[in-house]
Amino acid sequence: MGIDRRKFIKASGLAALGLVSAAPVRLFGQHDSNMVDTTTPASPPSDGKPLVGNRWAMIVDLKKCLHEEGCTDCVAACHLTHNVPKFDNPKDEIKWIWKEGFHGAFHELGHKHLEEHILHSHVPVMCNHCDSPPCVKVCPTQATWKREQDGIVMMDWHRCIGCRYCMAACPYGSRSFNWRDPRPHIDKIDPNFPTRERGVVEKCTFCDERLAVGKLPSCVEACKAKALVFGDLEDAESEVRALLAEHYTIRRKPGLGTNPEIYYIV
Ligand code: SF4
Ligand code: SF4
Repeated sequence: MGIDRRKFIKASGLAALGLVSAAPVRLFGQHDSNMVDTTTPASPPSDGKPLVGNRWAMIVDLKKCLHEEGCTDCVAACHLTHNVPKFDNPKDEIKWIWKEGFHGAFHELGHKHLEEHILHSHVPVMCNHCDSPPCVKVCPTQATWKREQDGIVMMDWHRCIGCRYCMAACPYGSRSFNWRDPRPHIDKIDPNFPTRERGVVEKCTFCDERLAVGKLPSCVEACKAKALVFGDLEDAESEVRALLAEHYTIRRKPGLGTNPEIYYIV
């Protein structure tokens, strides 16, 4: 393992609280909602200062995403950044972000009058960082918890005892279980991020480690269509708020009351 995981999680938490480094930076939108701008480089927007928000959320602009038929750049970037293993057997699969058929992602919302290409598309899905996360409520060890300061649903792999209650509780299939030692199945280990062990659960954490050093989530940075926008829902001037005001958005399984914080422009 490259670094100690407890120190790593602690450092991320301190940074999110604004207790390290310099002044927090408020916003991180890098996208124009109406144009596919491929000229702007995806670069850290804050010179290494922590990105601080009160309630992080993500917007997925499916109109832009679907311009890039078959693209999985967000998935590749995330899985490379986080040492996500690749297993041949699908039952062992570990996934932090993945593409799912529109009907699978939004079964109660995909009415027949939506545009045909959206109905037959595959859309990026991940942990929704639910505002009322059932996975947190069932965890007996507090290995998963909702971070007070910014709402990220976090994981501490040291605390996880592998009971998988959280997997049963998550209605989105957003968590994966390491049935096997993942380390031999990582193409190229990045020593800057912890690897995991057999018997623990893992999932997307909105790149808390990158926010701590002023970087956007790696999926956002990697998306050449700029279909992913990350920002603070409680900042009335943020780009996520502007997009929500401007566009019709849907969320996955809203009727369950989990209040997902990933919004999809359709
Ligand atoms: S999507 Fe699943 S794992 Fe993520 S916060 Fe919601 S219930 Fe928990
Ligand atoms: S598998 Fe780990 S994170 Fe999930 S409920 Fe059990 S202890 Fe908590």
